[in-house]
Amino acid sequence: MGESHIEHTPSLPFAQRPIVILGAGIIGCTTARQLLLNGFPVVLVAEYLPGDQSIFYASAWAGAAWHAAGGINPEQRYFQAVTHRHLLKMAQEDPTSGVCIVDTREFLEQAPPENSSLWGQHVVSKFRHLKKDEFPSHFNTGWAYDTLVTDPTLHMPYLGKQITELGGQFIRKKVNSLEDMYQMFPESSIFINASGIGSKELDDVKDDKCFPERGQNVFYKTDKCHMMYFRNGKQYTYVIPRPMSQGVVLGGVKQQDNLSPEVDMAIAQDEISRAHMLAPEIVPENPPEDSISHIIGIRPSRQGGFRLDCEKAGQRTILSAYGFGGGGYAFSYGVADALSKMVERAERENVIL
Ligand SMILES: Cc1cc2nc3c(=O)[nH]c(=O)nc-3n(C[C@H](O)[C@H](O)[C@H](O)COP(=O)(O)OP(=O)(O)OC[C@H]3O[C@@H](n4cnc5c(N)ncnc54)[C@H](O)[C@@H]3O)c2cc1C
Repeated sequence: MGESHIEHTPSLPFAQRPIVILGAGIIGCTTARQLLLNGFPVVLVAEYLPGDQSIFYASAWAGAAWHAAGGINPEQRYFQAVTHRHLLKMAQEDPTSGVCIVDTREFLEQAPPENSSLWGQHVVSKFRHLKKDEFPSHFNTGWAYDTLVTDPTLHMPYLGKQITELGGQFIRKKVNSLEDMYQMFPESSIFINASGIGSKELDDVKDDKCFPERGQNVFYKTDKCHMMYFRNGKQYTYVIPRPMSQGVVLGGVKQQDNLSPEVDMAIAQDEISRAHMLAPEIVPENPPEDSISHIIGIRPSRQGGFRLDCEKAGQRTILSAYGFGGGGYAFSYGVADALSKMVERAERENVIL
């Protein structure tokens, strides 16, 4: 008799259960935004959230240039192309996004190899091969084009605000495993692991292909912040403008398995010298000390490249999207688009029985 008084909480219908994302870097946030725009409820769980500045939160520190990657397959190229499309729209329509179109010069020490970044000529604007007298004679090849830079100090807070306005929910929490997430959201069945370098440590992921790759850049405050330069080859160097922050980012360096939060002044000096050689009209040999600050971040790298796949485990669908190393911004919106299509497929299988 008492039984009839027990209130049963009806479980949420599948279509109303939130999609749960672990990680609120550029990958987790662009994915959340896309899913929200497609009408899904979304929750993000992360130790670091948009606006935070830990060295382990790579998305706070990226250049971030859209530069075509070499050595990638056609599907990965398409992710970059989709990202370019999204960023271009933001650059044209919404300056608060922190995305700008910049005039770029790229110089190559050697002739471009097979499967080089040259495919990017079909994506960027105004691409042209420079004539021999248009670039320094010690380079083999020179290209000019317009591409996009994203200022992460503006873009991450912009994305965070958009997600909240679209109804997404952020929960600040460090978890030890994906299992912790399943316990937190017993009703959800679609989980996305966008935890960057976190995937090396999560108890039930422990991906030993993941490795930290430290970056240290110089930020030089200058109003000459509208041209981008790349030197491609052994002495990989860049000058990435941040027009909205009135400065340029000078780099770069990649230090595998180094987690130091301290500025290495020898690296900083070397980056200034290399940037000066590459763009002397922007970067003086000895910039005044008060015009210099330092950027340190740990890239979430992965041997063999990033992971992007979908697995079914019982009732749950788990999508993995991590290991983007030095290219997470350039892949972000394309990866978000791919993940949201995977979610749509999983949703269809779950709802249309
Ligand atoms: C100096 C520097 C320059 C760069 N320049 C460029 C560039 O020019 N162009 C470009 O495309 N890319 C660039 N990058 C790379 C880019 O920053 C990264 O690829 C990108 O930010 C990775 O994003 P992510 O979302 O995968 O990881 P992250 O931004 O690191 O985010 C990971 C998220 O997961 C959360 N997380 C992890 N583990 C846990 C856990 N156990 N519990 C809870 N939360 C957890 C974190 O708190 C965080 O929210 C640069 C990087 C650096 C450091």
